[in-house]
Amino acid sequence: MSCELIRRRDDGTAPPWDAIVRTEGWDLAHAYDASLEGWLVLVARRHITALSQMTEGEAQELGLLIVRVSAALEAATGCERTYIAQFAEHPDHRHVHVHVIPRPADLPGDQCGPRIFSRLGVDDAQRVPETRLNNLAARLRETPAFSAYVGQR
Ligand SMILES: [Zn+2]
Repeated sequence: MSCELIRRRDDGTAPPWDAIVRTEGWDLAHAYDASLEGWLVLVARRHITALSQMTEGEAQELGLLIVRVSAALEAATGCERTYIAQFAEHPDHRHVHVHVIPRPADLPGDQCGPRIFSRLGVDDAQRVPETRLNNLAARLRETPAFSAYVGQR
């Protein structure tokens, strides 16, 4: 499924929230099944299933992107800082993808740390509505952290 989503971005038919920025090695998308606004995912554009398969170029880009995505999320959502995680365990997404998750200052204690994952994989009714996702995508693209990437395909 991750590769299908990449093809949709390549075709230019992905919604704004699913193709926030694209770099040579990575696609930045909002998670489609999160109840936390700003839950972003950096998806490897190549089909790789383990971090050890990254090229040095992909790894260098990822390092910079983690900083820039975190800065953009802080600017656009007012979050205090970010969490990052990489598992690639879901049967539909055995493809390297790095979660970059906003950590709001007022996050309830029972959602801190790894328990933040209770906010992912939620029912349709709890998901952040698509209009809000697209609005956030536009705000993220305007942050200085992303100015170098906007317009890349
Ligand atoms: Zn794949």
